Amino acid sequence: MTRSLRGLAAGDLAGRRALVRVDFNVPLAGGEVSDVTRIEASIPTLRYLLERDARPVLLSHLGRPKGAPDPAYSLARVRDVLAERLGAPVRFAAPCDGEDALEASRSLGPGEVLLLENTRFLPGETKNDPDLARRFAALGDVYVSDAFGSLHRAHASTAGVTDYLRPAVAGLLVEREIEALSRLFEPDRPFVVGFGGAKISDKIELLEAFLGRADVVLVGGAMANTFFRSRGFETGSSLVEEDAVPVAGEILERAGGALRLPEDVVVAADREDPDTKLREVAADAIPAGWSALDIGPRTRAVYDAEIRRSAAFFWNGPMGLFEDPRFAAGTFAVAESAAAATSTGAFTVIGGGDSAAAVRKAGLMDGVSHVSTGGGAALEYLSKGRLPGIDALDS
Ligand code: ADP
Ligand code: MG
Repeated sequence: MTRSLRGLAAGDLAGRRALVRVDFNVPLAGGEVSDVTRIEASIPTLRYLLERDARPVLLSHLGRPKGAPDPAYSLARVRDVLAERLGAPVRFAAPCDGEDALEASRSLGPGEVLLLENTRFLPGETKNDPDLARRFAALGDVYVSDAFGSLHRAHASTAGVTDYLRPAVAGLLVEREIEALSRLFEPDRPFVVGFGGAKISDKIELLEAFLGRADVVLVGGAMANTFFRSRGFETGSSLVEEDAVPVAGEILERAGGALRLPEDVVVAADREDPDTKLREVAADAIPAGWSALDIGPRTRAVYDAEIRRSAAFFWNGPMGLFEDPRFAAGTFAVAESAAAATSTGAFTVIGGGDSAAAVRKAGLMDGVSHVSTGGGAALEYLSKGRLPGIDALDS
């Protein structure tokens, strides 16, 4: 088990600097923070630290600057939002590794937080440069890892830093993620998994990991089209991952009855045309030139019954092009089914950035057991059972 913040003694925190890797990689629109979910997700750990008189020093990346300062990605814009949500003064220093940052960390007073500039303004961050890791380590007396969505990357601020700074523990957010996702390694049964989204190739490892573990795997989304093709169905102009057709065929053969494909799909004559004709057709009757963009009503009903009878349910990947309301019914139906299963005692987990967005859009964030904050990190943890940023912590 990874050591957690809650396992630290009061003396490890009181009056001491806690270097916290947070995930403030927030969406921006017109230069402003357009979604505060990730900032709010950091609050429990920061409150926990402040209540114990620790001095939080925060590191994060934002966007993809190219290893050099870029005002478009300055974390300065997060400062006020954080101060307001946390109800505490937030100081800011740039760059995140210099004398100013060090001095600011040492002069933090009780109840104050120090936010440092974007770690990816420095080329050493993504290279996991040991010198940068050492400079990061100098900014704290303990290290707290709370950026779950970044833990599949071995970067200086997520992994290298712990070569020079101990204790190194999981923050409350990371602890909750590990706890929830780990439950899927020994799930209650029946264990049902839903898989959708655009590509199979992204998710082969995870699909195979779950085929061994799940009682039923329900497939939807564009991923289903690639499976249809491997069965020789006409797929019209649907999104198909041509390169993955052979591997889809192999998976289908090996999975036997455990892998379910949609019986019917919603198809559009021309997906670009807002007034295009729509039809619900059997999966093996997609008209030439048409595109399958959602699972059909019969499939929704079958999947609903499977999800409702589950004791554990994991879902990754929308069932259709849900960003377009005409093709969102299948995705929202699965979200509803997951919420219904949760309300009768099932343990339900949603992973993946777009899937989480769909559940949020359906208003069901609180209706399921856990919505992972880490897209790629959650999927990698579930397929491999480990992450570089977790291996870096005290065990
Ligand atoms: P996640 O981020 O949850 O892991 P993915 O990134 O794998 O999910 O896939 C999400 C994308 O797949 C969405 O943008 C959605 O519109 C798209 N998608 C799902 N089904 C289809 C389909 N039938 N045709 C085209 N795009 C689809
Ligand atoms: Mg995605």
